[in-house]
Amino acid sequence: MLILHDETTLLHDTVELLGAKLIPAQESPARIKAIVDAVKHSGNHELRTISASEEDQKTTIALAKANHKPEYIEHIQNVFSQWLKEGLVEAHESVLPECFRLQNVANAKLRPPKDIYARAGYYAFDMSTGISKNSWQSIVASANLAVQAALLMAEAPTNSKNPFQQNSPKLKSVLALCRPPGHHCTGSQAGGYCYLNNIAITITTFRQFTHSQRLRRPSNPNFASVSTLKFAILDLDFHHGNGTQEQFYMDPTVFYTSIHGQDEFPYYTGAASEQGPSNSPAFGTNLNLPLKTGSSFEEYLAKLHIALSAIQQFGADHLLVSLGFDTFHTDPLGKFQIETQDYKVMAKTVRAMLKNLPAVILLEGGYVVDRLGENLLSFLAGWEEAEGAS
Ligand SMILES: [Zn+2]
Repeated sequence: MLILHDETTLLHDTVELLGAKLIPAQESPARIKAIVDAVKHSGNHELRTISASEEDQKTTIALAKANHKPEYIEHIQNVFSQWLKEGLVEAHESVLPECFRLQNVANAKLRPPKDIYARAGYYAFDMSTGISKNSWQSIVASANLAVQAALLMAEAPTNSKNPFQQNSPKLKSVLALCRPPGHHCTGSQAGGYCYLNNIAITITTFRQFTHSQRLRRPSNPNFASVSTLKFAILDLDFHHGNGTQEQFYMDPTVFYTSIHGQDEFPYYTGAASEQGPSNSPAFGTNLNLPLKTGSSFEEYLAKLHIALSAIQQFGADHLLVSLGFDTFHTDPLGKFQIETQDYKVMAKTVRAMLKNLPAVILLEGGYVVDRLGENLLSFLAGWEEAEGAS
């Protein structure tokens, strides 16, 4: 597997309020270090370490604006330096919000508070998403990995009739070691360790790239098929990807399905009844498969088959996987009975059922640092076994 990594993703280092305790965030640089070490040690995969150029960063931020409000992005970028300047935070500390958005009984229009101190709560929905001195650099580097993964795959063949995607016949899948993760943040609120939605930015990149190709070749008779690319998102993190669901809830060309802990973080989303807006072409393109905490791997596999059959039926051109390892049985934030060898079966099942779909896999959660490497390698072994058999 081709694995994309950027060392800048290690700079983000923050704190979170968990229960009544302010602790170093469980979403830590050590997670990526552990994975990179394991991948290097295995020698079975191509680890490509990249560094976002200034141009790449500009492109990534421009693409992110299709998925996030510009004023939110500006806030994430600048809030730490503004707090530092005002003496609200020390250089080694993190910005955490105090007061979140409130419904106003008078139905007054929500607007960001003028006070930079208060604004932190306007652009966040929890206290696990601190912003420290170098967070912005890592956030952009993480999203850039998603962009680069999409650009690589956009040149690989798809099962669509896209005439511009036939240049790299060997590349079927790519994994990006995104950090911070992305599936929880909304268009204008950070949360669940997430700041920019990497999966959404991947889709924006595919669309943008395809669009620019189309402009270059307007006379091509097949270009109509290019503009209607369909995407399937399989969210395997323990937690419901509320942010990704929100991004594509109204979009009939993107199918989102998630297997996640029932009644777990982020608590207010993830019900099976959230299927897309009724009386709309997007109805049925959102499939939530909540699973009771403590469920066995067999119970998980039953849900996975439902998700994969639904993706087959949808008929996507690209597969995007939000890959979280907080489904692991000892994870401090997850509660399924899934063990290292099960990830191999999980991945093999996914790839066997969706073997013709070019796939971009992005890292989300997973907090048992010393088992992350072997869990990822187990997943990749199953994935490649199924891919090799296709
Ligand atoms: Zn998670």
